[in-house]
Amino acid sequence: MVAVTVEKLEKVFPPNVYALKDVNVSIKDGEFLVVLGPSGSGKTTFIRCIAGLETPTRGRILFGDVPIVDVEKGVNVPPAKRNVGMVFQNWALYPHMKVFDNIAFPLKIKKVPKEEIKKRVKEVAEALGISELLDRYPRQLSGGQQQRVAIARALVKEPQVLLMDEPFSNLDARLRISAREFVKSLQRKLKVTTILVTHDQHDAYALADRLMIINNGVVQQIGTADEILNNPANVFVAQFFGDPPINILEGEGRGDYVDLGDLKIPVKAPPGRLQVGIRPTDVYIAERPMAPGDVELQPARVVLVEYLGFTPVAVIKWEKSEMRAIAYDKVKEGSIVKVFLRKDNVKLFKDSIRISNI
Ligand code: ATP
Repeated sequence: MVAVTVEKLEKVFPPNVYALKDVNVSIKDGEFLVVLGPSGSGKTTFIRCIAGLETPTRGRILFGDVPIVDVEKGVNVPPAKRNVGMVFQNWALYPHMKVFDNIAFPLKIKKVPKEEIKKRVKEVAEALGISELLDRYPRQLSGGQQQRVAIARALVKEPQVLLMDEPFSNLDARLRISAREFVKSLQRKLKVTTILVTHDQHDAYALADRLMIINNGVVQQIGTADEILNNPANVFVAQFFGDPPINILEGEGRGDYVDLGDLKIPVKAPPGRLQVGIRPTDVYIAERPMAPGDVELQPARVVLVEYLGFTPVAVIKWEKSEMRAIAYDKVKEGSIVKVFLRKDNVKLFKDSIRISNI
């Protein structure tokens, strides 16, 4: 196990695609970092640079205090010498090899003695609950089982760092949840420094000690899930992380409130054009306030009722402004309802960057 430090990492693909721009992050020994971002944001490039499958154009990567990449000094430790375990999106199992041989493969390459290989495959198979499957071919396994084999193969060489690129994307919704739980508890048990890449915020929320949110090759924010939910650095982060998605409305700061034209949001706000961010969990339909400090907004009309799990979420509308709000009372589409706001949780942005509420 080892800490991973990434400094000023840049990757430019010819002719001029900046897949990563000045990425800086320190991953603690034993930490679980999830890299979250939309398609094409640079997630895979990031993890491949750490694995050694991609050569950065700038920057440094250190395992502990050992540089494995230092572009300026010409250091680039080959992948096989980095001692990382990698789990790919499609698991990349060898179809013509039985599970045992798939798992044993990295050790065979390293010319580990046969008896030692047997012992280590057996151990890792037990840890992953796949001892019964060693004699089967990958095609004879379920998706979840194949994934465990891929993880076993990544772990058998006792890597310093475990890298996983969208490891759940081939699983159906239910398997995905159990696979997530499994990966989380395994990581806790083994305490291996882990970096997992996903575009799925639910994966990220369930797994991460800390999250790194990336967009267009630029790190937007690094923090725990709660830090990022409560304190998003900008509008992109606020919109990308959080379910149901945050309401973002344009308005004008007027000191004691934000003027949305047809609606006043009673929070202190500096003068000028602003964006207001209100999570649907912070605005609700009810007969009376649910907590001290919550304030009543002007009544709104229910346009639509959706469900978040079993909780009704209503789309409500004033003259022009529209929001999603939790509906604590049963509401009918078309009805006029009372709306309350947890105003301490309202987030303000100027030019899409978070500003503190004054
Ligand atoms: P996805 O979630 O769709 O897999 P990602 O976040 O993993 O996306 P990357 O695969 O890292 O994104 O790609 C980042 C950017 O770099 C994209 O614009 C992509 O088109 C570009 N890119 C990736 N690999 C290459 C390559 N070999 N040559 C040129 N451009 C590339």
